[in-house]
Amino acid sequence: MRFKIALLGIYHESNTFSEELTVIENFLRGHYLKGEAIRREYEQAHHEIGGMIEVLDKHNIRVVPVMYAEATPGGRISSETYDILLGDMMSELENVLPVDGCMIVPHGAAVSEDFQDMDGHWLSLVREKLGKEIPIIGTLDPHANVSKLMIESTNALIAYATNPHVDQRETGKIAANLMVECLMKRAWPRQELTQLPLAISIEQQCTLNDPCKSLYGYVRSLEKRKGILSISMILGFPYADVEEMGSSVIVVSDGKGDTQRQTGDEIRAYITCRKEGFNGDKKNISSVLDSIDQLVKPVLMLDMGDNIGAGAPGDSAFLLEKLEEKGDCRCFICIYDPTLVGLAEEHDLNDWFDISLISDKRANMPYNISVQLKRLGDGRFNESNPRHGGQANFDMGKIAIVSTRKGNTIMLTSLRISPFSLKQLTAFGVDPSLYDVVIAKGVNAPIAAYSPVCPTILQVDTPGITQADMTKFSFKNRRKPLYPFEEI
Ligand SMILES: [Zn+2]
Repeated sequence: MRFKIALLGIYHESNTFSEELTVIENFLRGHYLKGEAIRREYEQAHHEIGGMIEVLDKHNIRVVPVMYAEATPGGRISSETYDILLGDMMSELENVLPVDGCMIVPHGAAVSEDFQDMDGHWLSLVREKLGKEIPIIGTLDPHANVSKLMIESTNALIAYATNPHVDQRETGKIAANLMVECLMKRAWPRQELTQLPLAISIEQQCTLNDPCKSLYGYVRSLEKRKGILSISMILGFPYADVEEMGSSVIVVSDGKGDTQRQTGDEIRAYITCRKEGFNGDKKNISSVLDSIDQLVKPVLMLDMGDNIGAGAPGDSAFLLEKLEEKGDCRCFICIYDPTLVGLAEEHDLNDWFDISLISDKRANMPYNISVQLKRLGDGRFNESNPRHGGQANFDMGKIAIVSTRKGNTIMLTSLRISPFSLKQLTAFGVDPSLYDVVIAKGVNAPIAAYSPVCPTILQVDTPGITQADMTKFSFKNRRKPLYPFEEI
């Protein structure tokens, strides 16, 4: 008998502090795929779906891609949009039943207008539809805020073990191999969630550096224990006011001993003793500019407050304004502003015209500047290297590249995408090595793409809905006590 496995997911990281709702158009402009189109998009990509397909194909298991919907991180998903996605996914799943198992691909930090734990909600419906005898196994982004319902509704969830996430395909393979073990009746995984009493600052979530490098090393050492199948260290996503916000650990085991609970407790003890290390430095722009002349160029300057990968708009000119004022550091910045792309299209190449950008949205500060049009074009490009997010095809919509009188370059885009690929610059004639400073709207994720050309990396505490200090946000729903909000 040839086994048949459904593959599906709704993937979104929702910033509940954003005033914008995420709507169906955001998914249509991202990825909203059904059936074999999912295989075509991801089979070769450094994405968990590609890893899952590779392993299941290798074992001659029939993979039935059902539906996969993904949008750039943003505000909560509107009720109407979630209804459409969920209705579509459940009816497509119904059409392919019966199945022997289901591979699932949630992000783990999706929030809709109606469901704070949107992932827990749709996973519980998939479980209800399939029954408890059918294995449901999948992946998570370590920026998940993991709920008990997500754990109860699935047999095993395995998170990427890197940030920037360059192991997404590998993680998909681990999850699919576990599915194979279940189908062969060689394992029936059990998982246990330990919610930790702290939220790790996004600034300290890079697994290339301490404290996360050592933390992940410690977790890998525990994974060698007898009976343990996988341990996922979940960093958490601080920009969501939900009950399950914060860091956690998922231990998947063969269910034969009590190692699961004990291992979760040991990781809790490890991290609690070192909690101050997970707070971050929060460097402001003045201190960064004081030392920038001595640094090796180009400097990758990470705009923490306008982090698109955490749901910020990507339209802030705060760092550009500071570098224009300084005057002697040539910089590149990408800004999402469809209106300005439209304005640029009304001009000829080399024309000068005035644009108004946003410097600090909360202070309602416009930033007006004259620019010269250098290039107009279609902003589609692709990436073949393992990069954060695992996507292969990107679309910025129509783009305009302009330069300022001080020689700074601004790429204006009409669609929002996260800065996860250097092709975003190089495919459009921008050579990052010619700049002193390259600004990217992220915190850790862009490092995978930019570190090959930027020897110096600086995270800057800037204003915005993803600003570095999470204690500045007002939470009503998070668990307590939670460090650094309360002492633990
Ligand atoms: Zn992530």
